[in-house]
Amino acid sequence: MARYLKRGATAEAKATANRQIRDTVETILADIETRGDAAVRDLSIRFDGWDRESYRLSPAEIQACIDELSPQAVKDIEFAQTQVRNFAQIQRDSMLDVEVETLPGVVLGHKNLPLNSAGCYVPGGKYPLLASAHMSVITAKVAGVKRVVTCAPPFNGKPAPAIVAAQAMAGADEIYCLGGIQAVAAMGLGTPSIAPVDILVGPGNAFVAEAKRQLFGRVGIDLFAGPTETLIIADEIGCDGELAATDLLGQAEHGPDSPAVLLTTSEKLAHDTMAWIDKLLEILPTADIARRAWESFGEVIVAEDDAEMVRIADEIASEHVQVMTHDPDYFLQHMTNYGALFLGARTNVAYGDKVIGTNHTLPTKKAARYTGGLWVGKFLKTCTYQRVLTDEASAMIGEYCSRLCALEGFAGHGEQANIRVRRYGHRNIPY
Ligand code: NAD
Repeated sequence: MARYLKRGATAEAKATANRQIRDTVETILADIETRGDAAVRDLSIRFDGWDRESYRLSPAEIQACIDELSPQAVKDIEFAQTQVRNFAQIQRDSMLDVEVETLPGVVLGHKNLPLNSAGCYVPGGKYPLLASAHMSVITAKVAGVKRVVTCAPPFNGKPAPAIVAAQAMAGADEIYCLGGIQAVAAMGLGTPSIAPVDILVGPGNAFVAEAKRQLFGRVGIDLFAGPTETLIIADEIGCDGELAATDLLGQAEHGPDSPAVLLTTSEKLAHDTMAWIDKLLEILPTADIARRAWESFGEVIVAEDDAEMVRIADEIASEHVQVMTHDPDYFLQHMTNYGALFLGARTNVAYGDKVIGTNHTLPTKKAARYTGGLWVGKFLKTCTYQRVLTDEASAMIGEYCSRLCALEGFAGHGEQANIRVRRYGHRNIPY
């Protein structure tokens, strides 16, 4: 039976916070819907102190941002973007169109059609998270999306050069410097100055994630990708306290609402890790945020064995799951709920977040129970089609269809079948 050595916020506290965010977002979305660009501008001033006539960046502004970066920074962004593009292309190539004759004369198929437009949110409130530009914009482009719009908030009172460079280098068609709920709503609903998109993608803070959730239905969304979560599954063979603490704090620094959880079979590793966290918090430059996250949401759980760790990890359904045990592949074989798995001590969440090539936009708040992360498939619609090649096939299917329609009481549907049985099968099914 697992024991908690440290517990995070209660379910009740989490529910209260969620309710407050839901209400704020609802009010702001209603305002943007009523007042359009004027509301977007007011909100940008209110939340980001950022006021412009047009939030779209001009080609000259974009070039100026790229020019601000060092040649090494440009090369590093190119390297990361190449890795993301290559893996996205491999995933795209795995999504085959299908056409098969399922019965003599009956042909069924599907095509994977790219969406026409996508709105990619790139977070930038606390850190200029340029990596999100690779993850959303490149993936959309590999999928074949024609119009890719991207928004990121200002950072230190102006567009963040590295974000803008990454957005442009990834191939974005329209780049706006706009953050938070107002950015998501402007792209999702459209305003006189931003044409609406078909899908909203990308991660963000709790407000951004909730805004996407509330807009879903009127516009597509990729998934619920809110504040970062990390779970480390570890034992003394695969990990040590310093490594576990480093990896927990590396993700806790995302924000004060980012849960970081250690799940281990070793009580010694649990205590070592907690001691290392205290030490590292003395020196980590982002300790202010990481400490708040660890104190409020950090958890340490000691389990009996690997099987119990799988059960608990599946229940948590964390965005990131890092496995550093004697047998990481056991978790790859048995776990069912996670955004992304990081197997073995040689890799870690930061590799995935920044550069290795898998997508870093991943499900949070247990959304990993029903979805994986962002990938080319989220920008494609798998649409079916059918044709019937022979009169015999049409009449044969028509007879089944006719009887099944009668069971449902659908007379009009039934007649769609009957008329074809009469025409192509030359059998008299009464009107
Ligand atoms: P952000 O860009 O998501 O949010 C900043 C915006 O929030 C601001 O522009 C502002 O307009 C708005 N805002 C701030 N306070 C507000 C308030 N009180 N009411 C309404 N709007 C408000 O940047 P961030 O805040 O740094 O958050 C980035 C988030 O993205 C982090 O939580 C991080 O963990 C998360 N993230 C998630 C994933 C994922 O895949 N799930 C990946 C990367 C990052």
